[in-house]
Amino acid sequence: MNIPNTNLKRVVIIGSGFGGLQVAYKLNRKFFQIVLIDKNNYHTFQPLLYQVATFGLEPDSIAKSIRTILNNYYNFFFRLAKVNFIDLKTQIIFSNMGELYYDYLILATGSKTNFFGKKNIEKFALPMKTLEEALNLRNCILQRFESALYETNYKKQCLLMNFVIVGGGPTGVELAGSLAEFKSSIFPKDYPELDNKKIKIHLIQATKRLLDGMSESSSKKALKYLKNMGVNVWLNNPVKDYDGKILSTNKGKLKSINVIWTAGVKGALIKGLKKKYLANNRIQVDCFNKVKGEKNLFAIGDVAVMKPNGHPMIALPAMKQGIHLAKNFNRFFSKKQLIPFNYHNKITMAIIGRNKAVCDIFFLKISGFFAWLIWMSIHLIKIVGFRNKLLTLINWGTQYINYNKSIRLIINY
Ligand SMILES: Cc1cc2nc3c(=O)[nH]c(=O)nc-3n(C[C@H](O)[C@H](O)[C@H](O)COP(=O)(O)OP(=O)(O)OC[C@H]3O[C@@H](n4cnc5c(N)ncnc54)[C@H](O)[C@@H]3O)c2cc1C
Repeated sequence: MNIPNTNLKRVVIIGSGFGGLQVAYKLNRKFFQIVLIDKNNYHTFQPLLYQVATFGLEPDSIAKSIRTILNNYYNFFFRLAKVNFIDLKTQIIFSNMGELYYDYLILATGSKTNFFGKKNIEKFALPMKTLEEALNLRNCILQRFESALYETNYKKQCLLMNFVIVGGGPTGVELAGSLAEFKSSIFPKDYPELDNKKIKIHLIQATKRLLDGMSESSSKKALKYLKNMGVNVWLNNPVKDYDGKILSTNKGKLKSINVIWTAGVKGALIKGLKKKYLANNRIQVDCFNKVKGEKNLFAIGDVAVMKPNGHPMIALPAMKQGIHLAKNFNRFFSKKQLIPFNYHNKITMAIIGRNKAVCDIFFLKISGFFAWLIWMSIHLIKIVGFRNKLLTLINWGTQYINYNKSIRLIINY
């Protein structure tokens, strides 16, 4: 991969997401040569993917090139490559762009969509885990309305505008809310020839409540908001199969050619890892993020599960683990004692729409306008880069004033 050999130990980080970026930021480059590898040349702010899919934000407001983020870092190398295999014995990683020796390897590869082994669903449903998928979803939704204009058959027209979201976690809830707002405020202006009552939005959840990771009261509030916005919520209703036209669930069948899958993620593993420390597609690590039985292999973020119970697969623990691991590396090489990682999730939240969000902060359960304000502020702070923050703020500001989402472009790439 054309990385110079030096006397310094080489730390290879795979994945420039929330966790990997933090390690790269915080590792002391006097001690190490750092190589960051990612299959994309940008970092994605995944919490706002749904806004790209539902015409609220441009993709480049939530993505930033790695080279822009980490330019001028000495002793640091970025390589655009997909790592396919790790040879733990020889300490070499194999990628589509060549191979590389490491002294220490940090896996920060995040997660990927979990279809729970349902091949048909994987084939026909629309996922939303990457920027490409969010853009694809945006194209697909808009294209359906354009096609509906040509359709003279009532049933076929309704079918084009029948959207089913599977998964009642934050992503599903946010997507359903955003589509419902589109239906009521933008759709009538853009498509006056079509009847917006024909748009149906279904949200299907396998368990008995939405937002399983949040408090009961936030979950009830989110349900109430969505129902008021016209979303058909189906609880306790695991999906069985989907053939591209009919979705089979425990409670019956739904006809839809637009099934969006947000029902779960699993660790993005790379071949070569040993089965003995893998659990439910994640890599088991100790409180120092070290993989058991491997002296120079570490994992952080979504792909890692820290004993005994693991952390939620969200951005903050990934970032904190990245910062913490880098600090421990620096401490180790300064001959200081290592500090175990300690994290308790204090804030969970989801946005449903304009002035509507739910927020669990410690023991406080907030909903409505203040929760919405907290959600907006925290997400704005967390977006990487000043330009992206500004772009997002401008978009949100104008959308709030105009009741409009202006990025309704179908761009087939
Ligand atoms: C739609 C959606 C909404 C979300 N909303 C929220 C939210 O509101 N709040 C919240 O806290 N969290 C949210 N999350 C979860 C959050 O985004 C993840 O927990 C976080 O991204 C995990 O960080 P990470 O560093 O482990 O992995 P990621 O940020 O996913 O980064 C992994 C990186 O590894 C790279 N990679 C993977 N495999 C390879 C390979 N083989 N070779 C090279 N590179 C590779 C990927 O390209 C990627 O850049 C959401 C996630 C999604 C998908």
